[in-house]
Amino acid sequence: MKLPHLDWVNQDSPYLRQHHHGFHSLRFEGELEPVFRRYHAGVFLRRMRWALLVAMLLALLFVVLDFVNLPDPLRGQILGLRLGVIQPALTLAWLATYRRGLRDHLQVIGGAVALLCGLAVVGIIGIAHAHAFPLPYEGIILVTVFFYFLTGLRCTTAALCGWLTLVAYLAVELAVGLTGEALISNVLFLALANVIGSVGCYSQEYATRLNFLAHGLLQDLADKDFLTGLLNRRAFTARAERSWRQAQRERRALGVVMMDVDFFKRYNDHYGHAAGDEALRQVAQVIGERARRPLDCAARYGGEEFVGCWYDLGEEQMLAILEDIRSTIEALGLPHVKSEVAGVVTLSIGLAYLTPQPQQSLEDALRLADVALYLAKEQGRNRLVCKKP
Ligand code: GH3
Ligand code: MG
Ligand code: MG
Repeated sequence: MKLPHLDWVNQDSPYLRQHHHGFHSLRFEGELEPVFRRYHAGVFLRRMRWALLVAMLLALLFVVLDFVNLPDPLRGQILGLRLGVIQPALTLAWLATYRRGLRDHLQVIGGAVALLCGLAVVGIIGIAHAHAFPLPYEGIILVTVFFYFLTGLRCTTAALCGWLTLVAYLAVELAVGLTGEALISNVLFLALANVIGSVGCYSQEYATRLNFLAHGLLQDLADKDFLTGLLNRRAFTARAERSWRQAQRERRALGVVMMDVDFFKRYNDHYGHAAGDEALRQVAQVIGERARRPLDCAARYGGEEFVGCWYDLGEEQMLAILEDIRSTIEALGLPHVKSEVAGVVTLSIGLAYLTPQPQQSLEDALRLADVALYLAKEQGRNRLVCKKP
């Protein structure tokens, strides 16, 4: 299964790269896997909650049935397992789905509870068979199907629970003396249930992963500039507003920066639009590499203009980063014979360095950065000018 028509997506997207590499082992590369796991937990949270609730009700129903049907010594032991192990485990897992702090651990908690319940059901069958009471083993098949299709467990976890439960069942029946055709047939049916479950669960997780990649590609399409892979103006505004509010709350400094390639119209006219695009890509890469922390961001504002926002840096540090951007772009050595400042492509930078005040807005800071940029152009280009309110 592959997504069709992907030429409209930014070709640098990690989602696209993963899509090309494939994910038949149900594992993404690098940073994408933990992001997917959080996405998966979010998508399947409600399913897991409902599955646990249904499991609790079904388990209670069996308590009633056992209470009515089972003979005396058996009744106590089996109800002990149902009320002492299965119900509390299900209830705890159900409550865990409501704890935000446990979101990242729900697969482990769900898997452990599923396995525990599987083993308890095997124990119940074993106890009944040891007392020669004909409790149907098919209950384990129901539990197995439940693991794979209703719990929201990922394929590996569900398969681990399913197959371990089968092994435990085989061991228990051998221990209580079930042999021959009956045992072979039971184990065969249980193994088939696991094969069907594993295959079904695999394709369900594969489809969820494909969905995740499609979702990420759409997000990229909405947020990123196609040419450079930096954020676009809309996404920049959203991100920078977030950093702005945080800086306002915590009284931290913010560097709001406007950058513009020098004499770029002449570059385009002389070297052609394709060379212009390539130059913009390289300039963007230099800028993007220096805005990597979570509250920093850099974007293509439009044409040959870039914008950036750096959070909580001392003035010296901020100036050093921008000076590094300026000098690195000059050092790229992209020839520009029509430039009046240097024989290579250069960048002018305007910085507004401030601690956001209640009456100020991000727009004010951008205006100030624009004034600084204008001064940088006026003072000869290929330089950095800093303005404070
Ligand atoms: P200054 O030093 O004052 O900034 O002069 P400039 O020529 O860089 O400024 P101007 O705004 O006059 O020209 C910007 C040029 O950028 C115009 C256009 O040819 C070019 N440009 C804008 N967007 C793109 C793009 O996506 N690709 C390419 N190749 N060129 C672009
Ligand atoms: Mg320019
Ligand atoms: Mg311009």
